[in-house]
Order: sequence, then structure tokens, then C-alpha cells
Amino acid sequence: MLQLPHQPRQVAAVPPQRAPARDDEGGPWHTEAVCRRDEAGLFFAPSKEPTAARLSREEAAKRVCARCPVMVECREHALLQPEPYGVWGGLTAAERRVVLARRRRREVELKKATTDRIAAAG
Ligand code: SF4
Repeated sequence: MLQLPHQPRQVAAVPPQRAPARDDEGGPWHTEAVCRRDEAGLFFAPSKEPTAARLSREEAAKRVCARCPVMVECREHALLQPEPYGVWGGLTAAERRVVLARRRRREVELKKATTDRIAAAG
């Protein structure tokens, strides 16, 4: 089986020809992934990669993502898993951690605002 760099991890648990269904459309989003045709090494760091090389590789991976028709689905997948390594949906692992932290903060603020409104109305 072609090892898609951004194949969801659970793929290993399903027959190789079958991809997990896209949540919203019931179709395999990653069959449309541009990175199927690109080198997997572009998306994941080799061990002991120097910083300059990593930055350059990540920028190259992001350029691939920028022309990918399933970038949004891929990004959400990586955020929801969450995928701890590699470039997914145009974001590095560090960038995804920032997005997730922002989302968590926003959730906490929304919960607090709701609680405060209920208390004020009570
Ligand atoms: S967005 Fe990037 S990482 Fe995701 S499937 Fe497309 S090319 Fe691969």
C-alpha cells in the first residue's frame, strides 16, 4: 500500500484499500490528498534535523498543502486526533498546538460567559 504521509492513523486498522470515511460526506477525503504524489519525507522530520532544514522542509510541505483540495478536512482531522507530528493541513505540529490552545481558551471563555449570564438572570 502506498504510504500516504497524511493517512489517518486508524488506517492501519482497516483493510489497506479502504480509507476511513470523511466525517461530513461519507467519502475518503485523503484520496484527494495532493501529498499522495509527493515525497512523504517532506511532511515529517527525520531524526536530528537541523532547524534551518526543518524550516525549509516545512515551508515546502506547506506549499504542497496550499494547493491541496482537502486542506480543511486534513487540518481538522489533525486537530481532532490530535496528530502530534508532521505538517497536516498546512500547519506544523507547533502551529496546531497553538490553534488547539486557542480553541480550548475560547471554549472556557464561552462556558464562563454562559455561566455568568445564567447566574445574572437567576
Ligand atoms: S493538506 Fe497537506 S498534508 Fe493534508 S492531505 Fe493535503 S497535502 Fe497532505
